[in-house]
Amino acid sequence: MKLFTIGPVQMYENTLREKSKQVPYFRTKEFSELMYKTDRQLKKIIGAKESSEAIYLTSSGTAAMEAAVMNIFTEKDKVLVVVGGTFGRRFSEICSIHNIEHEDIILANGEVLTSELLKEYDNKGFTGFLVNLDETSTGQLYDINIIREFCRRNKLYLVIDAITTFLCDEFHMDKFGADAVIISSQKGLCLSPGLSIVVLNERLVQDRICNNAVKSMYFDFKDYIRNMKNGQTPFTPAVGIIYELADMLDYIEEKGLETHLSEIRERADYFRSQLKKIGAGVPAYPLSNAITPVIFEKPVAKIIFEELKNNFDIMVNPTGGNLEQYQLRVSHIGNLTLHDYDDLIDKILSVLNKLGG
Ligand SMILES: *Cc1c(COP(=O)(O)O)cnc(C)c1O
Repeated sequence: MKLFTIGPVQMYENTLREKSKQVPYFRTKEFSELMYKTDRQLKKIIGAKESSEAIYLTSSGTAAMEAAVMNIFTEKDKVLVVVGGTFGRRFSEICSIHNIEHEDIILANGEVLTSELLKEYDNKGFTGFLVNLDETSTGQLYDINIIREFCRRNKLYLVIDAITTFLCDEFHMDKFGADAVIISSQKGLCLSPGLSIVVLNERLVQDRICNNAVKSMYFDFKDYIRNMKNGQTPFTPAVGIIYELADMLDYIEEKGLETHLSEIRERADYFRSQLKKIGAGVPAYPLSNAITPVIFEKPVAKIIFEELKNNFDIMVNPTGGNLEQYQLRVSHIGNLTLHDYDDLIDKILSVLNKLGG
């Protein structure tokens, strides 16, 4: 099986080795040491200050999105949400569920988030900003410079869902002006699903996390921060995935973050340059290197998805909604080579030929 999907992804050999080991008991000094080391490495790679706190949740990314909103905001806040696709809509729904006043910047199909658009929301009493920096459903990578500038001049807390931009595009929590960053194991980290992490900077911890009364046992970050002083989590962590994480951070450190990112960029650029061969194109808005939306002129996307899966054991991401017949999404993270993309293009061509050009 070959995965060109965005999560789970085609895993690296070292991760597969790590996955095959016995999961150890974790209320030990040894596991605490591993947590301390991993926590330090993660903060460095994500561009967080050492004074920040990372919350290790045994959950998928959506739980981390919800937990972040619950711990950071209250009913007294007014939050601006970028809704450019499925994941932006999810943030908006989470705010609604938790009675957090919010306004949505709804982007039309293909619309770019611009500074002019943001200007309309200046001085409107907002206290927070929620954004999926790479909106994975469309592949649009928003411009962090305009978001950071908007949040700075309006004094907003900036919460970034970096689930598919971290370790795919350049990312630096502190330089990007983010107060909280959400990541998840099965995306850029290329690990098993089940571990999600929220990194919080010091001012957010002091101003918000420590003061907010969260109506939840499992998702109260105060408890996680207390436990992390001892290198532990309040509840059973995803022990196996934490070992995969430790191994992956070592791997990236050894290889060099720049090299890792440039490999992904190269694959994305290469694949995009080959799309003419299958009569397809990409959207006009700025794209993350994580994933390429592949747009066909004819309604062939769904059948290509099925044929790749059934005949070649190749997985790509389908697209939901009204683009279902016209768009596939192909990811560039994980253990993939340029040769794999040649092969993918060949296989798509053979499906198209079978369909009759
Ligand atoms: C995958 C993803 C999530 C989380 O989805 P889960 O299925 O809950 O892990 C959140 N935001 C973005 C941008 C994603 O790509």
